[in-house]
Amino acid sequence: MTAAGQSGIIEARDVVLSFGETPALRGASVSVAAGEILAIMGPSGSGKSTLLHCLAGILVPASGEVYFDGRRVDTMAENERSALRRDRFGFVFQFGQLVPELTAEENVALPLLLGGARRGEALRQARIWFARLGLDGLEQRRSGELSGGQAQRVALARGLVARPRILFADEPTGALDSIAGEQVMDLLVDSAREQGTTVVLVTHEPRVAAYANREIIVRDGKAHSLTLERVAS
Ligand code: ADP
Repeated sequence: MTAAGQSGIIEARDVVLSFGETPALRGASVSVAAGEILAIMGPSGSGKSTLLHCLAGILVPASGEVYFDGRRVDTMAENERSALRRDRFGFVFQFGQLVPELTAEENVALPLLLGGARRGEALRQARIWFARLGLDGLEQRRSGELSGGQAQRVALARGLVARPRILFADEPTGALDSIAGEQVMDLLVDSAREQGTTVVLVTHEPRVAAYANREIIVRDGKAHSLTLERVAS
């Protein structure tokens, strides 16, 4: 439960995590409502990515609790968390991290193939995203043959193709110029809203956070709410 008494689709409660002697989170709590776009802001090294990784079941906190859809995530076995990430979560990172040996459309199809879809059907679904994200004609390119903005749109398509409940985006525009970054954020927000995907977005840029419904700031490993709350447009 949050302080307001409502449960979010995804929540961290009093999460503590250190890397060796370095404390990264010192009792961070956050609750994200279904369909919400939440920006996690804060200075470099404040614990933003660590909080995202805890929410996504990538890192397991030393203490505290993480919940997705009412289920406790941090006590799940690794294979259960891995299945949750594969089936319910999508990811976009700062540097697209496309598989260089695969074509753009194979990269987008990957989450569907990992989920057991047949190759033909997975590629058909993947191709729909190329038109949607302004990537028509780039289906057969490899990541080295794409601009930074194009590669990041391919990564966004890969993050959304399996219709995840939550999209985790860690500095998704961090490596792009401002025009390419705006294009990626416009597409990210429109696509997520269209399919009702909840978004947890880590950024240190106010311009990027402005796309969110709500912002929190992580400082010294603790999350603080901002009073500012935007109404979904
Ligand atoms: P942010 O995303 O806000 O830049 P991070 O969550 O990446 O912050 O890091 C929080 C703290 O944990 C920092 O002091 C960082 O140096 C440290 N840290 C993060 N990841 C690791 C790691 N894999 N190994 C050791 N220290 C780490």
